[in-house]
Amino acid sequence: MSLVNGTSMFNAAREGHYAVGAFNTNNLEWTRGILAAAQEKGVPVLIQTSMGAAKYMGGYELALHLVQDTIKSMGITVPVVMHLDHGDFEAAKECIEVGYNSVMFDGHDLPFAENLEKTKEIVALAHAKGISVEAEVGSIGGEEDGIVGAGELANVDEAKELAATGIDYLACGIGNIHGQYPANWTGLNFDRLAELAAVIEQPLVLHGGSGIPKDQIQKAIKMGVSKINVNTECQLVFAAATRKYIEEGKDQQGKGYDPRKLFAPGTKAITDLVEDRIEWFGTSAAK
Ligand SMILES: [Zn+2]
Repeated sequence: MSLVNGTSMFNAAREGHYAVGAFNTNNLEWTRGILAAAQEKGVPVLIQTSMGAAKYMGGYELALHLVQDTIKSMGITVPVVMHLDHGDFEAAKECIEVGYNSVMFDGHDLPFAENLEKTKEIVALAHAKGISVEAEVGSIGGEEDGIVGAGELANVDEAKELAATGIDYLACGIGNIHGQYPANWTGLNFDRLAELAAVIEQPLVLHGGSGIPKDQIQKAIKMGVSKINVNTECQLVFAAATRKYIEEGKDQQGKGYDPRKLFAPGTKAITDLVEDRIEWFGTSAAK
């Protein structure tokens, strides 16, 4: 199946009270690992690149083609959305140009009026080409690719205004954090989520999905969260599986140093994690 945009996929998720996972890719192994899990479970999936990961991979066009060609070579039949995660204005424009199916314009660090204005511009450019748009109000705690958030809660009035620009899904801070959660983390703010969900029709996006307990994730999904971003957890399981392989000395047995062998346990660990999160998110309801 070729790539699709995310609008109807996430609207259906909000309506059906399940979520679709959005997993960050970094390279061929990540891409294969994520796609294999979605195909095994028979559910839609979103693959996203941060600006930093796309730069690492050789640019947006290369990242898009890698995903497209991997879908073809693996015979993937489930719907896949190719998305830009936390793009600035220029990155969002470039991904619209290159042919991503969905872009996030993250203007949370701009003055709100400017965030609103630029979001409108991106919506016009994207919708003219059938591309979905995610915007963000209120910063998300932690750090992702140098973007640091103070972890504030999204302002409900600002969220309403941003939603009215015609965006397709909205990321809003509700106490979630990028990266690993600190031991003293107080959990998601469900009161704010309820206020937001009551006035925003679009699917809501939960960033920093790595490390939020299952019960909180499932409660958030019931309340209107339909897209959940998972990045750090894939990195952690890949690193742990690769570490284990080397610590067991397997890279020094026979041709265990062959990258096709060396990266296999990490890739499998990503597939296992993604399959597990698909279960958590109830994505099989999309069938
Ligand atoms: Zn994020």
